[in-house]
Amino acid sequence: MTMRLSSLLAACAFLSLTTLAVAQPKVSTPAGPIDFEEYEPVSTLKVAEHKIGRAKYPFIDVHNHQYQMDDADLRGLITQMDSLNMGLMVNLSGRGFSGNPGESTKFFNGALANIQKTSPKRLALFTNINFASVNDKDWATQAVKTLEEDVKNGAKGLKIYKSLGFNVKDEKGNRVRVDDPRLDPIWTKCGELGIPVLIHTADPKSFWDPMDRYNERWLELKLHPNRKRADTNPVSFEQLIAEQHNVFRRHPKTTFINAHMGWYPNDLTKLDSLMRVFPNMNVEIGAVIAELGRQPKASRTFFEKYQDRILFGKDSWVPSEYATYFRVLETDDEYFPYHKKYHAFWRMYGMALPDEVLKKVYYKNALRIIPGLDKSQFPN
Ligand SMILES: [Zn+2]
Repeated sequence: MTMRLSSLLAACAFLSLTTLAVAQPKVSTPAGPIDFEEYEPVSTLKVAEHKIGRAKYPFIDVHNHQYQMDDADLRGLITQMDSLNMGLMVNLSGRGFSGNPGESTKFFNGALANIQKTSPKRLALFTNINFASVNDKDWATQAVKTLEEDVKNGAKGLKIYKSLGFNVKDEKGNRVRVDDPRLDPIWTKCGELGIPVLIHTADPKSFWDPMDRYNERWLELKLHPNRKRADTNPVSFEQLIAEQHNVFRRHPKTTFINAHMGWYPNDLTKLDSLMRVFPNMNVEIGAVIAELGRQPKASRTFFEKYQDRILFGKDSWVPSEYATYFRVLETDDEYFPYHKKYHAFWRMYGMALPDEVLKKVYYKNALRIIPGLDKSQFPN
């Protein structure tokens, strides 16, 4: 099969992207232009390959979501975890997905009982906050009380969804800012209880940028048009991130785990400056391994510097995708594929992390930061 150089360049430079907005039949055209979505060159590069289906050490996934944990048979889940060498999974959706307080409590209690019955060493829950009646005078008192009870009953931390900042509204219809003072008692209480707050705020900056040929997340926005944002929908990326940082600043005694590396995995210099300003901020790597895998040298330097403050997370539960994480973290492989083109049309390189750093990222940091996890299955 031959392909004209001009069409190859066109595909590489996304010159044909604008035409994709109009639905076109996908036809392979050996001698003509090839569109970006269709272009899947088979690499001719011959280099050493180390495909890894199991992590080198048992690891803790601090960013997982299981929405059937209250009544599912969890033995199948444990078997899947075994195959990856996942020692422990943290289900951040401890209160399920219902906005109804009664339902969410039912889910929480059911999930705890199910974990207890199946394998309390292998599964842990974070709780969540219901912001629905944030206007009520005694909302904070009630929310703090529920939080305390949840922790007493077995929650190991608090997860804050990105809905805070994006679409949580008070009764007047105003957006509730991430740094809304009404929420301060929550962050303070987490500090007192010694539990971490895993917080996800905003989305990748590219979602706010024009959806054009220059946007790295063009394909993601095409496949998921509802992810497109504007500075008025509801506010700018910078505004949301600033609000989150205000919370870190105001609550130095509370430990935070910033989800998705705070959406600065593609700017480790910036993230480095934040790590210095907020000693109470840790980060987890869920859904951003493709950013690390395209800058293995800078990533390794960052991981060595902040080896005590980086945790392993994945977010979406697709067991086969963990292999990419293991390979980026553990190997020094070059130019290997990522599993989702809309996250990365580029290829991955391994960071070859030293064993001591790897152990910290895989489990030591989580065991230190999240209270009450069973340590017996993890090596020293
Ligand atoms: Zn998540």
